[in-house]
Amino acid sequence: MSNRILIVGGGLTGLALAAGLRHRGVDPVVVEQAPVITEAGWGIGLSDPHIAALDRLGITDRDNWTRFRPDRHLMFDGDTGLLEAIRHETAMLFSRTDLQQSLYEPVADLVRTGIRPSALHDLGDAVEVEFDHGARETFDAVIGADGINSWTRRHVLGGPDATYTGVAIARFHLPNTDPALRTTALSLDSTGVLGYFLMDGGRKFHGIVMLPGEEDNRRELNVAELAALFPRVTGPLTAFKNLMSTNPKSYYANIYQVMVDEWARNRIALMGDAAHAMSPILAQGTGVGLQDAAVLAELLTTPDLPVPIALASYEKLRKPAAQAMQRASYEAGLQIGRKSAPTELFPEFITQDRPAVR
Ligand SMILES: Cc1cc2nc3c(=O)[nH]c(=O)nc-3n(C[C@H](O)[C@H](O)[C@H](O)COP(=O)(O)OP(=O)(O)OC[C@H]3O[C@@H](n4cnc5c(N)ncnc54)[C@H](O)[C@@H]3O)c2cc1C
Repeated sequence: MSNRILIVGGGLTGLALAAGLRHRGVDPVVVEQAPVITEAGWGIGLSDPHIAALDRLGITDRDNWTRFRPDRHLMFDGDTGLLEAIRHETAMLFSRTDLQQSLYEPVADLVRTGIRPSALHDLGDAVEVEFDHGARETFDAVIGADGINSWTRRHVLGGPDATYTGVAIARFHLPNTDPALRTTALSLDSTGVLGYFLMDGGRKFHGIVMLPGEEDNRRELNVAELAALFPRVTGPLTAFKNLMSTNPKSYYANIYQVMVDEWARNRIALMGDAAHAMSPILAQGTGVGLQDAAVLAELLTTPDLPVPIALASYEKLRKPAAQAMQRASYEAGLQIGRKSAPTELFPEFITQDRPAVR
């Protein structure tokens, strides 16, 4: 069991680990480079295993979270307008802000903002850390939860840089004025994906357009122009597409991923996007990071388990599942714009009301 643990990064997964450790009686130090802990107000899809990880982390007070579970998710072939699949085992959509607050509040006093490490020295039986404001401290373990461009991964473990997945995404919010609408939908055609989820208890559309191609492809298009790229949508996407003509503000991002061979070395390890940033197409990134946090918190607080053994065990337990999800997400992204059948995009996730995979 280790007592002095440094978590580099106060994003969702670093905070989750801090909360899980405190829940088990160990108070870590979290350093976050940003001057304040903030979170954008996007929705976040969490599946049942991710909710179970929150329970293991002691984040059980979720009654006041806004949430929405659709009654079904419709997947259309956008080239023909035909419904290709009806998915009932849908993830619950939460607010990222609710999740972030629930993770941050129990550990706010452990978080030091506006600080970055500048060097880590593995001394064998401890890690000496230099910070950019000049201080030095010694820790039993250092966990890099510092995101897709992780400093810990690149400067300490010599890990790879992130690479572009071949897909960009535009996201936007629109008000939903139809309280009876419980169905979410997406359409896939040779241009890309147009779809929406429902958040804030169903009062808001979280719209997405996924665009295969070079980095920054179609970045210049506004939401109304993006809608025009999908001429043949049917079903509930028809009204949604009409709403897009109101042209809400949108947020564009090229999607990157990073496949990391070495997650742990002696007393230093990676978690969350630092270890396995993946395409968001299957909406799994945070959830997989929460599962990392649950396992790490348990291993680092297990009596008589030396830190190097705990971290090597963590890599052994978590890496295969996380990398399988990365591969599934990447391969799903490769299908965008190439095949028009959503069943080929999400083959492992659709178990009913679907035609045979071609
Ligand atoms: C468009 C999009 C949609 C997504 N939708 C979903 C979804 O529906 N469901 C889902 O599960 N996942 C989703 N994801 C994935 C999810 O956003 C990420 O997996 C998750 O936020 C990763 O959290 P993290 O804490 O590991 O990394 P980050 O959120 O990147 O946090 C890293 C933190 O470390 C800090 N930091 C970085 N470097 C340093 C340093 N040197 N020193 C100190 N601090 C540092 C950063 O400031 C940041 O606060 C989506 C991602 C994208 C891009």
